[in-house]
Amino acid sequence: MRRPKLKNSNSGKQNRKHFISRKVKGLQEEKEEIELLKSWIEFGKPDPGCNPLSNPPLPEDMPIGRINADSFSQYSGCKLFSQMPLSQKTKDGLHEANYKVMTDIQRASLPHALCGRDVLGSAKTGSGKTLAFIIPVLEKLYRARWGPEDGVGCIIISPTRELADQIFDVLRIVGKHHAFSAGLLIGGRKDVDTEKQHVNELNILICTPGRLLQHMDETVNFECSQLQILVLDEADRILDVGFKKPLNNIISQLPKERQTLLFSATQTKSVQDLARLSLKDPEYLSVHEEAERATPDRLEQIAIIVPLEQKLDMLWSFIKRHLSFKILVFLSSCKQVRFVFEAFKKLHPGIPIKCLHGRMKQEKRMAIYSQFCEQRSVLFSTDVAARGLDFNKAVDWVVQVDCPEDVAGYIHRVGRTARYLSGGRSVLFLMPSEIEMLEKLKAAKVPVKNVKANTKRMQPVSSLLAALLVKYPDMQQLAQRAFITYLKSIHLQKDKSIFDVTKLPIDQYSASLGLPMTPKIRFLKQRTKHKNDNEGSFHVKQENDTMPEFVHIPREETPLDKSNVEEKVFLLPKESQKEGKMYAAEIELVQYVKPATRVLKKKKLKINPHRPAGTRVVFDDEGNSQPPLATIADTKGVNDTLELDKVNERYAKLRQEMKERDKEDKLLQYQRLREKRQKEKMKYKVARPDDGEEEDLSGSDEEKTVKKRSKRSKTYSDSDSDEEQGKRIKDNLGFNADSITLAEQEELALNLLSSMHS
Ligand code: ADP
Ligand code: MG
Repeated sequence: MRRPKLKNSNSGKQNRKHFISRKVKGLQEEKEEIELLKSWIEFGKPDPGCNPLSNPPLPEDMPIGRINADSFSQYSGCKLFSQMPLSQKTKDGLHEANYKVMTDIQRASLPHALCGRDVLGSAKTGSGKTLAFIIPVLEKLYRARWGPEDGVGCIIISPTRELADQIFDVLRIVGKHHAFSAGLLIGGRKDVDTEKQHVNELNILICTPGRLLQHMDETVNFECSQLQILVLDEADRILDVGFKKPLNNIISQLPKERQTLLFSATQTKSVQDLARLSLKDPEYLSVHEEAERATPDRLEQIAIIVPLEQKLDMLWSFIKRHLSFKILVFLSSCKQVRFVFEAFKKLHPGIPIKCLHGRMKQEKRMAIYSQFCEQRSVLFSTDVAARGLDFNKAVDWVVQVDCPEDVAGYIHRVGRTARYLSGGRSVLFLMPSEIEMLEKLKAAKVPVKNVKANTKRMQPVSSLLAALLVKYPDMQQLAQRAFITYLKSIHLQKDKSIFDVTKLPIDQYSASLGLPMTPKIRFLKQRTKHKNDNEGSFHVKQENDTMPEFVHIPREETPLDKSNVEEKVFLLPKESQKEGKMYAAEIELVQYVKPATRVLKKKKLKINPHRPAGTRVVFDDEGNSQPPLATIADTKGVNDTLELDKVNERYAKLRQEMKERDKEDKLLQYQRLREKRQKEKMKYKVARPDDGEEEDLSGSDEEKTVKKRSKRSKTYSDSDSDEEQGKRIKDNLGFNADSITLAEQEELALNLLSSMHS
């Protein structure tokens, strides 16, 4: 956290008495000045809804401030900072920084902002919007006599860390005579604990949304209930979906009674956005709305049609021909920035090369940003540098290698050059499929000249890159990632009239990056019907038939690689991100049934509970389809309702059968016991031979039969089921062994033996 005291200490070595009297005098003067400023502002405040720029400018030599007892000089429409109802401290700061004449947006918005109104300020890039909100902030807190004990009086929110840092610098310069404390709270800084200790002592916070929210959530006693003024720089970006959640969260913790200032070159007019911020009768001040062009007048803009596979050749040639310029190059993703930066650095074009993207460590980011401010060099960057940055020594060229996502994106990127009164040039590389962008720019009053590329002077770099990739294997990974993320970024673009990934020359593009083989990219046509891809690629079943699905299988990787699955989730169009998991789950399930060509990584199988239920069709013997569960239902007809009588009849029959079998079982058990007893008797008879006769005589016919049956039943019971056994017992009960002849008995015995062996 940077926390300067904006005031230079002037107490020094003066003796105490002198010091106190001066202090009292100073306080008295300050009080009088504040009274004067309040009356002056109130006296000359512009009518609500009017643009002070339309007032005739005041003569420079007219008296300033109080004219007589109850009249003051006009300030609405004046040209100089010195003519404005500003504190002497602010005027001194402006004067020392050489800010004298106001820019249009400052002239238009300051009169409204000074009298406490909410403002939506819109003006071209580089037209001085920062001062248009820094000055009202300083003045409001000054007039409220804000002191250290009052805590946070102002929060300024910036979408990027670098821009927050830049705003902080402007505040330090202009507010150096004030006694406010200010802090820069941005992500990526390690000393968050120190920040937490001091954040409540700060009067002005300049922050990125994430870090501010972190303090709101984590810092004990973080207090901003007395907030006087909230500023959103690059307001449309901060109100964009990307910051929606943190911003809503922040706003919900701020007092509604406050002044709010919003500034951007491409201002939001959305009623919803304004409602989110609870603006009160905001003044919409768009100073260049009537202007012929939406971009700075001194900006020269050209567009060149460059096929995708020639983009790097074109960029390389451009850099080689502009070695004495400061060039800012925009690419669409961090991975592309990394690849192009690493590759071009190794190829030594003859100018220092740097890169800036969101994945870099904060210290490095800041260092690169400061170096690029000072040094003639080429900076490859993502859109992290697209908004608000005012590089000290002017940027000569802005090169957009990849087309921005929309016109606003274009305006902000080119706005890094031709700032304030300086000139600048920009070039946009457009692929033949992106030609529609020219129409959109024209419609938005952006004058871009379509120039034919001079291919004769082009210096191809692809072969150099190919050699580089062989020499440095790490580069090949970078190239592959750059390739994939570029296609991904095109696929994810919202404006399908410009961005069409299916029109890209994929193989040529891959070769142009120096890759020896094209990483496999498949566009899978959506099908409502189940269809298997016989080339072994992923099968993706989708409900929506209009959007093609885009699946990438990196080279030399089977579809079983988990990273591929993650890629695919990203590749889903934004609208279907919600269903992303569903696609991923289906893809994975299909992967598991593919034959593996290498050792599988252990993966978690994702189950999608929202998958449509299975519709298994069952066919009967005639080939007719049957409804589900038909096989376990009444075969006579699923539509017939079961009749209660039939059911009862069936149960009665079953009960009868069971009764009979029960009877037989009891009998069988009885016979077994008898048999056992007989055997014991026989043993006894063997011991006493005269007892045998007794047994024969005592046994009835039935008993003999049971004896015989018992032997047979034992034989069957070893091999057959209980049911079968019961049946045979019953059959055997139907004849009397004593009633058959010996020959018949032998035959029966033989049959029994053969059945035992079979
Ligand atoms: P914007 O936010 O509109 O893109 P900045 O506030 O970054 O523009 O200002 C662009 C440049 O103009 C800065 O270098 C700043 O110092 C300079 N500038 C702003 N206002 C004035 C002024 N009144 N007089 C001179 N230079 C100014
Ligand atoms: Mg700005």
